[in-house]
Amino acid sequence: MAGKLTLRRGDRLVIATHNAGKLEEFRALLSPYGLDIVSAGELGLPEPEETGTTFVENARLKGHAAAKAADCIALADDSGLSVDALDGQPGVYTANWAETPTGRDFDLGMRRVEDKLTAVGAIEPAQRSGSFNATFCLAHPDGRDDIFTGKVDGTLVWPPRGDSGHGFDPVFMPRGYDITFGEMQSAVKNGISHRARAFAEFVTGALGGDIEH
Ligand code: IMP
Repeated sequence: MAGKLTLRRGDRLVIATHNAGKLEEFRALLSPYGLDIVSAGELGLPEPEETGTTFVENARLKGHAAAKAADCIALADDSGLSVDALDGQPGVYTANWAETPTGRDFDLGMRRVEDKLTAVGAIEPAQRSGSFNATFCLAHPDGRDDIFTGKVDGTLVWPPRGDSGHGFDPVFMPRGYDITFGEMQSAVKNGISHRARAFAEFVTGALGGDIEH
C-alpha cells in the first residue's frame, strides 16, 4: 500500500538491517537529517526470512517485519549485484552466494561470481558488465509503505581490489571510474552508489528533500 510517509527531525527510524556494512552506510547518509536512528540488530528484532523473488518483495518483507515488531516506522533495503552475462544473477540471491555453514564469506561469494563469468567465457571488460541495485521500503506499522530504488552500472573485475567497503565492493568498478568500490573512500562511494541513489529518492519522497527541515 503506497503511503507517502514523511519523517521529521527528531522522529525515530528503525533501520531494518542486521548487516553492519549497510548500517554504517545508512548512518552516514542519514546523519544530516537529525533522525533518531536505531537498527533492528540493536533492538534485538528477529531477521525475517527473505522468501521473495524480487528486491521489492524482500524489502517489503524486511520493512514491515521491523515496523510491526518495533511499532515504529522502519526503513529496509534489499540490494544485490546483477551480472549481465549471468542473466542477472546473483540478483536477489547475492547474499546467498556468500553463505557458508559458518556465516558469510564474501571472498567465496566473489570467487563464485568469477568462476561463473569464466565458465561463460566473459573475459573482456565489455563482457563483464553488471549493476548494483538497491530497493528501499519505508514501512509504517499500520501497513502503509513507500518504495524507492537506485542502480549503479559498472564492470566486474578480477582479482578483487581494495579493502574498504563491504560485501562485493572489491570486484565492482562503477562506470566512469578506474577504481573499485573497495578502493574508494566511503564518502565517494556514498555519493554515487545504488544505495545513495535510492537514498536521494527517499530524501525527496520522505524527508521533503530539504536537509534543513
Ligand atoms: P540483502 O539485501 O541483505 O539481501 O543482501 C544484499 C547482498 O548484496 C549482500 O550480500 C551484500 O553484501 C551485497 N551488497 C549490497 N550492497 C552492496 C554494496 O554496496 N557493496 C557490496 N556488496 C553489496
